[in-house]
Amino acid sequence: MENGEIELFDDSSDSDIMPARGQAWNILIVDDDTEVHRATAYSIKDITIFGRRLSLIFASSAREALEKTAGIDELAVAIIDVVMETPDAGLELVKALREQGLHDTRLVLRTGFPGYAPELSVVTNYEIDGYFTKEELTRTRLISLLTTAIRAYENIRIMSRSREGLELIVGSARQLYKRNDLEMFAQGVLTQVAALLRVSSSGLVSGSKSEDDKMRIITGIGRYAGHQGKTLEEVDETLAAMCANSRASEEPFNEGDYLGMRFESDLGALLFAALESDHDVTPTELDLLRLFSSNISVGFENISLLEALNKRAFTDPILDLPNLNAFEDALNEALDRGPEGYIAKVQVCDYQSQVATFGTIVTRKLMRQAYNRLTAMAGDTCQVALVGEGAFGIVDPNATLLPEKLAEALQCSYIIDDIEMASSPSSIILQIRDLPENRDDALTVATAAQVPTRKAESEAHILYGKRERLAWERSNRLRNALKRDSETFSGLATYLQPKVDLMTGEIIGAEALMRWTIDDESVPPSEFIPIAEATGLTRSLTNFVLRDVAAWVKANARPDGQPFRVSVNLSMADLNVPGFAAWLLRRLQALGLQPPMIDFEVTEAIAMSGEVPIEQVRELAKQGYSISLDDFGTGYSSLAHLERLPFQTVKIDRSFVSHLTGANATKSLCTVIVAMTDLLGMDCVAEGIETEEQRDALSEMGCRFGQGFLFGRPVPMADFSEVFALVPQSGGNVADGTAQNSEA
Ligand code: C2E
Ligand code: MG
Ligand code: MG
Repeated sequence: MENGEIELFDDSSDSDIMPARGQAWNILIVDDDTEVHRATAYSIKDITIFGRRLSLIFASSAREALEKTAGIDELAVAIIDVVMETPDAGLELVKALREQGLHDTRLVLRTGFPGYAPELSVVTNYEIDGYFTKEELTRTRLISLLTTAIRAYENIRIMSRSREGLELIVGSARQLYKRNDLEMFAQGVLTQVAALLRVSSSGLVSGSKSEDDKMRIITGIGRYAGHQGKTLEEVDETLAAMCANSRASEEPFNEGDYLGMRFESDLGALLFAALESDHDVTPTELDLLRLFSSNISVGFENISLLEALNKRAFTDPILDLPNLNAFEDALNEALDRGPEGYIAKVQVCDYQSQVATFGTIVTRKLMRQAYNRLTAMAGDTCQVALVGEGAFGIVDPNATLLPEKLAEALQCSYIIDDIEMASSPSSIILQIRDLPENRDDALTVATAAQVPTRKAESEAHILYGKRERLAWERSNRLRNALKRDSETFSGLATYLQPKVDLMTGEIIGAEALMRWTIDDESVPPSEFIPIAEATGLTRSLTNFVLRDVAAWVKANARPDGQPFRVSVNLSMADLNVPGFAAWLLRRLQALGLQPPMIDFEVTEAIAMSGEVPIEQVRELAKQGYSISLDDFGTGYSSLAHLERLPFQTVKIDRSFVSHLTGANATKSLCTVIVAMTDLLGMDCVAEGIETEEQRDALSEMGCRFGQGFLFGRPVPMADFSEVFALVPQSGGNVADGTAQNSEA
């Protein structure tokens, strides 16, 4: 072999085609003339091209050529005689080789018949690189031809590998958006780098959550498989040192037999990948790796972000505890598992008043302590999560919770910053089997389950049973029906109950009380008003009552021509909505309801509420409408509260009146309230007077007006004038038994 000649073709500027270890270039020589085999073998027997030897495959026919190349996927060049067993056997072989999947192989045609050129279509369709007569292919020519062809072959290979690599990169990026777990991602990195470099060796990916954290194996292949969770140091000290010495950059690096890459996310997480490589990495491969590694870097960033977002989505940002999302997730899983598990809702404290008394910091500490107690009690299998203000939800797939256990975990007081805080927790446990079958309903019941209002320790922790389930189903049914009826007003009615002068028995006015009937069942206001308030339907109900009242008041003037005043109850839910008073004033105007015709009853809760409702009541008062403070005595409003509110009348709650007897009257709170209203120049109406004894006692202590079954139950508006014969009567009952029975 003449070295000079070979070097001439061994173009070292082709830096991409680096001497690789081992592999030879496969060259196929097909010719039915065995002399050609021999001559070719002789002329190129010892040469190397781009550092690799040639491995020659000889075949005497197209058929033999196909047989011999059947298992080969890296055939660099084929030099094919055109005319063999048939005049176009060589061309048929070309076609067959391509169809066999050898797309990158460079094909050179050789013929002993000068002037016999293949059709142009064959040359273009099958990418034939050259066409020579046998005489033309001298040794020098042949080596030159092989060098060019191999270079072309390798370039094509590199290109198609980089295309495959890019496809891998794109594919992995796409996968990344679907999969957000780090292990899958790490596996993808390894398999893809291995595929890119065509190595099937060993490697690993390790990671840490922050710079100070230990690098731990996320996944491994080859001899690094099965080390998940171990530290990198434990598994391979060389790699640990390599990782420690490497700087985070997207630049892959070659060190010894390893190829390494290190990434750092913006959030401080680290990722280190190392792969054993059996050959030196070519510049093209390195370019590809660079591209790939910038993709890994983006992917890793995404994953770190996803993990952070995930954490954020499932964590309450203030208390740093699992939140409602975490609860719902665990709940969904538990529902998937079957009917065995339990769900608990725990009210640790009245968050608002706790904050008002102790401040946010202490209250948060209390919540965290409660969380710790609950997780310690519930164990690893349960998910404890914040589900509301001062409330935790617990998903217990193994049904281990008991009301007693919850009570025990929560009943001791908390010591926070040396302050001892008593707690009055309550809870409810639901069995998954008791939840509605429909998934959405089940989630709703579990999430909205009402923790019992704590009346006594014995009632504080309860098991949700059939009763609670029926109550839920009923409130659901009522909610839907009320939504419908408040639009159509079907089933709604306005009743009136007289207000009387206790001394004279004269009816001085009436209170409008709403009635609702569905499917022949009369639902009491105590049940449907809260539903209306919770679902925003009160305004519509008020509108209904106003319409009825307006019609009635206009048709039922007093004998002296003065209007007969009717009281309408306003809901706190409405007064809390800014703009309600303005709406109400527009309605009153539209209905022609002047101040003397109507009075508004507002519950005592208003005295404890914020500025919005009070301001709205002031607006009504400013327009001349009189306001009564309803259910007085049940809340906590003080004299000071009353003074700054624009009320003309205070209604003493029935609970004070019902205990009233002639004997205890002087010690009764009624006496105080009556005296107080008198002092403030307000009127006083006692509610729920049922006996003459109560009436007399109230009258004696100076209460002028009253309302109650003694004078008459609420009756349908249309019957009121007739039942109560709107004429002044002397003394006691204005209404007889007829009226009293009207709402028995
Ligand atoms: P309230 O405004 O305090 O109405 C007085 C309640 O006491 C009425 O109950 C009335 O029927 C009842 N009552 C009157 N006299 C006696 C008596 O001598 N003994 C007993 N045991 N009860 C008596 P009702 O009609 O069931 O209404 C309950 C509550 O529902 C009302 O309390 C009021 O807060 C609310 N409500 C009723 N209608 C409406 C309405 O149209 N709008 C709003 N927002 N709330 C309403
Ligand atoms: Mg009332
Ligand atoms: Mg009342």
